[in-house]
Amino acid sequence: MEEKKKIVFSAIKPSGEITLGNYLGALKNWIGLQDEYECFYCIADLHAITVRQEPKDLRRRVLEILAIYIAAGLNHEKSTLFVQSHVPAHSEASWLLTCTANMGELSRMTQYKDKTAKLKENTSISAGLFNYPVLMAADILIYNTNLVPVGVDQKQHVELARDIAQRFNSSYSDTFVLPEAKVSESAAKIMDLQDPTKKMSKSDDNENSYILLLDPPAVIRRKISRAVTDSVGVVNYTDEQPGVKNLINIVCAIQGIKPEAVVAQFEGKGYKDFKEFVAEVIIGELEPVQIKVKELLENKEALAAIYREGAQKASRVATRTLRKMQKKIGLLPLEK
Ligand code: ATP
Ligand code: MG
Repeated sequence: MEEKKKIVFSAIKPSGEITLGNYLGALKNWIGLQDEYECFYCIADLHAITVRQEPKDLRRRVLEILAIYIAAGLNHEKSTLFVQSHVPAHSEASWLLTCTANMGELSRMTQYKDKTAKLKENTSISAGLFNYPVLMAADILIYNTNLVPVGVDQKQHVELARDIAQRFNSSYSDTFVLPEAKVSESAAKIMDLQDPTKKMSKSDDNENSYILLLDPPAVIRRKISRAVTDSVGVVNYTDEQPGVKNLINIVCAIQGIKPEAVVAQFEGKGYKDFKEFVAEVIIGELEPVQIKVKELLENKEALAAIYREGAQKASRVATRTLRKMQKKIGLLPLEK
């Protein structure tokens, strides 16, 4: 008998255009998991609306991200590719888990603290932003997920999902698999190009702080040439030179090589040569994906067929878990 495959779940939210950080820290690692695991890859639109989104941009981005998933190498015949809001079980399970989570643990989430600290004074903070890790726990738990491939910034949320699952299991009875985060080493955290002490984020206001997956070559060259470095002037891999270190990490994540190899290649050379090289490495990686994305976006019907099929496949699994949760909690079933 064939052994049952372990389950992988991950998602990117359409809160902005996909960045090189999302691609290297998350998406690129998802590709290789498709044969060994049963994978659910989601476009987390319900997470994006924790901060206000322009409706037409949100709709466009969801399709664009699906095209990026496929162009980067996700295969809808192997993996389930779907849009979060198309599977209502996410929202329903999220409420049930909101009643299992507690305010204290949610207040300790560093992302919540970081994101609210960035908001201007007097801007109101949506309750959704506070609750978002619970929705993420629901996303993960309703698929009986074993592994969640994410960047290091999401590790704390996966641990919270695990804590919530454990609490639910012990207050009712064994219901959820306990998930674990899977963080890729070299690309765990791609940093902001203008401030290499913070992570690259798609929702940043300064467009020079990130490389977008769909940035044309000239833009990539310009942004890398403007990336903040230091006055040392020598290509070293050390914490004292966080800007240079970040650029080295980007090359390593793309080429699958060690930092020492990059350092050796630039011995005796300056930052100008180094940055030109980094830009070409990024362009070489992203250009084929960009061409494919363009092609895919020309056939919206084909994309719709993929997300419709994905929603059906995802719903079957998610609804089964949701029914189990409802039953254990004591909600009266509508049907026998
Ligand atoms: P936002 O700023 O709106 O939160 P984001 O760029 O952080 O956007 P998310 O949708 O929150 O993107 O995260 C999607 C995936 O990308 C997650 O697995 C996350 O860990 C990963 N990720 C995000 N930023 C980075 C980064 N700078 N380096 C590595 N991985 C990242
Ligand atoms: Mg994020």
